[in-house]
Amino acid sequence: MLVRLIYASRSAGVLSPIDVKDIVRSSQRNNAKLGVTGALMLSNGIFLQCLEGDHLTVNALYHRILLDARHREPAILSYAEIDQRLYGGWSMGLVTMTEAHRPIFLKYSVQAEFDPYTLRPKALELLFADMVEHARPITA
Ligand code: FAD
Repeated sequence: MLVRLIYASRSAGVLSPIDVKDIVRSSQRNNAKLGVTGALMLSNGIFLQCLEGDHLTVNALYHRILLDARHREPAILSYAEIDQRLYGGWSMGLVTMTEAHRPIFLKYSVQAEFDPYTLRPKALELLFADMVEHARPITA
């Protein structure tokens, strides 16, 4: 069964660009082997990640990610069975939110600051779909 899991977490302290590169590099390597696709956003000290793949594989991967000391306060915000992937071509794309992306976030949010914890599952799905169209992933 194909599922999409979206969760948010807060970075534990200030992560250097090398830390973020490390996360993206191991994600791309591991996820490609697992058949997991998705995207990772980082803004305002908050990670927002979308993981797509087989339900048992995504479940196991999410539990592995939870053990990582580089983030805290994880919360699953959306979990759904899906017919098709949004990120078929990305083993894990990093999307850093810039000023240019602010209107996309504002479209789905009541506040100006990036805070995905406050978004409803439907809004998160639409935000990721918009990001696929408008954002270019940064590769490690
Ligand atoms: P390696 O790739 O060999 O490790 C890479 C580097 O990260 C090394 O420098 C190592 O020292 C460091 N490192 C590894 N684990 C930790 C840790 N727990 N704490 C601090 N430093 C560490 N992994 C995925 O496979 N797929 C994902 O989609 C994914 N998403 C992530 C999202 C977030 C927000 C975070 C914080 C981490 C994510 N990770 C993901 C990373 C995951 O938590 C593990 O670190 C990674 O899977 C370990 O891969 P590896 O065994 O191949 O280690």
